Amino acid sequence: MTLSIPFDNSYARLADGFFARQAPTPVKAPRLLAFNRDLAQVLGITPGDLGDMAQVFGGNRVPDGAAPLAQLYAGHQFGQYNPQLGDGRAILLGETLGQDGQRRDIQLKGSGPTPFSRRGDGRAWLGPVLREYLVSEAMHALGIPTTRALAAVATGEEVVRETLLPGAVLTRVAASHLRVGTFQIFAARGDTARLRDLTDYAIARHYPDAEGPLGLLTAVRDAQARLIAQWMSVGFIHGVMNTDNCTISGETIDYGPCAFMDGYHPNTVYSSIDQFGRYAYSNQPRIVVWNLAQLATALLQQFDAPETQVDAATEIVHAMPAMIDAEWLRLFRAKIGLSTPEDGDAALIADLLDRMAANQADFTNTFRALGTDGARDQFADPAAFDGWAAKWRSRLARDADPADLLARANPWIIPRNHRVEQMIDAAVAGDMAPFERLSAALADPFTPHPDLADLTRPPLASEQVQATFCGT
Ligand code: AMP
Ligand code: MG
Repeated sequence: MTLSIPFDNSYARLADGFFARQAPTPVKAPRLLAFNRDLAQVLGITPGDLGDMAQVFGGNRVPDGAAPLAQLYAGHQFGQYNPQLGDGRAILLGETLGQDGQRRDIQLKGSGPTPFSRRGDGRAWLGPVLREYLVSEAMHALGIPTTRALAAVATGEEVVRETLLPGAVLTRVAASHLRVGTFQIFAARGDTARLRDLTDYAIARHYPDAEGPLGLLTAVRDAQARLIAQWMSVGFIHGVMNTDNCTISGETIDYGPCAFMDGYHPNTVYSSIDQFGRYAYSNQPRIVVWNLAQLATALLQQFDAPETQVDAATEIVHAMPAMIDAEWLRLFRAKIGLSTPEDGDAALIADLLDRMAANQADFTNTFRALGTDGARDQFADPAAFDGWAAKWRSRLARDADPADLLARANPWIIPRNHRVEQMIDAAVAGDMAPFERLSAALADPFTPHPDLADLTRPPLASEQVQATFCGT
């Protein structure tokens, strides 16, 4: 049977200058490693047989109705403006209008060079492809806005990195791939016509109620503020919050050197390229505001008199930190089982986090175990927990029974970095069983499954992953 995708490609219908038409480059021996049937159904896709799906998701057969292209964008990388990035190893096949009425991009990542590849080979290796597949689907299951994974294909080719590694292609699904950097490129070029067209396109696609550029800025601010608070609430560290990895939709995108924290510490950094901790866990709320300021700067360029709009735009950006704080407090209140707000809750949560940091307490397991004896066992000095728990209990006395809320707000399982690495090592050796098992466990993260308890254990010293890599 032949795979069929009901494409409706609005981006490809934009005028010239937003993208370069580019077909994927065929690979030697495509083999389907993973396919997300639930997501395919939402997208209205009729699956084909395995061989045919490997051809399409490996980039060897362009399916009917696709209009493959590489999108143009720029971006600030670690604070430095790079005037031209673009899809250097990704190709947008097109969009579908899903059964839920939502328009989504279907993109191949690792599908060969494009006019924007610069010095890169346009390829990806198996490790980052499976990492993104697994972690993005885990984020979705946690209820956090994210791009998703439709398929992973092994190419049967090797890619050259520090060593030779097995190649792979990921099929990524996103509300769109519009980024802060998509606006920056046209603003920096002084191309106000395209900047206006792009603004109209983004509003129509994502925020139809938003009015004008500042309405769009406000909508992106709200979506990103909610998103970052959600990352914080599960101990997620993105690792490369460059403006080209910051979406207009408010979805998490680009699972490069990302990781979930094991032991809690606010300064945690995993990315091998984040020397100064710009994208450390506790810096994420500040960095997203910086990114939003870049979007504001770009959007302003389309006004005939930008200087008249600076105050309004500044006000929108300046409101963001308080919004993130409020959302953070709402989520962390739930994480300690409080269903009604009281003054002093923020200090109570901060006190717990301080004690956790001083005691190498596991982020996920500590919150999940609140209300059981298990919580104090997470602390190097359990008395540090007891001191906090006494205050917590007196606060709880003025609130409802926390048990349900604790179980709904605190995942039982997250994709632990050492498990992800072990999964990748096995896959490289040809064993997909750990991928299957981990994927199944992460699909239902709030429900304990005793047979999967080994996957909730923090790493042993010998298993600890010290650094994560972009995997380009
Ligand atoms: P990322 O770190 O994935 O956000 O990528 C940053 C930029 O580098 C984007 O423009 C990518 O398309 C480009 N890039 C990353 N890896 C490759 C590669 N192997 N070949 C070509 N371009 C790449
Ligand atoms: Mg990127």
